[in-house]
Amino acid sequence: MKRQNAALVCFSGGQDSTTCLFWAKKHFERVEAVCFTYGQKHSQEIEIAGQIAREANVPFQLLDLSLLSQLAPNSLTDSSVVMDEEMPESHLPNTFVPGRNMLFLTFAAIVARNKGIFHLVTGVSEADYSGYPDCRDTFVRSLNATLNLAMDEQFVIHTPLMDRDKSEVWQLANELDVFDIVRTQTLTCYNGIPADGCGHCLACKLRKEGLEKYLSEGEVKK
Ligand code: ZN
Repeated sequence: MKRQNAALVCFSGGQDSTTCLFWAKKHFERVEAVCFTYGQKHSQEIEIAGQIAREANVPFQLLDLSLLSQLAPNSLTDSSVVMDEEMPESHLPNTFVPGRNMLFLTFAAIVARNKGIFHLVTGVSEADYSGYPDCRDTFVRSLNATLNLAMDEQFVIHTPLMDRDKSEVWQLANELDVFDIVRTQTLTCYNGIPADGCGHCLACKLRKEGLEKYLSEGEVKK
């Protein structure tokens, strides 16, 4: 299969994956996006992801992984679970969806291979996150090796945000000239409110703290 200078981005329409989408557009001739639906309550993120991809001229594919929420009840998909708004001391917050990033990247690799694409991009970070084990670099490297063995291919999983805290993700968006798009069009909030969000869920807190830190230190390009 002919190898192309192309990348497939795991895309959700949030701050991180939108920044990654534009990072990929800068580094690859051709970029496509795959978005996963898994019964998340904030299903509006799928519409928002589609819209951002359309405006960026990026082909967009939606994959249904709703089995995930049946197997792993969590507060993102199950309304009867009260969402953690603080980091619990002794366990992961109930916004954690076990196996999510492993499945997303695995399905992304299957989709990519069929398109002759061997570069995958994901917006995970271990610098500023909610303690999810599948956001760690060691996990991504391990899965990359596993995917290569599983399909006898040479995938490369790119994680441009891995070492960036949230303020540095804002900085990257600004360097890519998409600060305003990321600020006003993306949906990061676990309660499904676009842009600056609800302000009190774990995702909003991280996003807001990063933005405030960045705006106090950085200089937004005009
Ligand atoms: Zn929120």
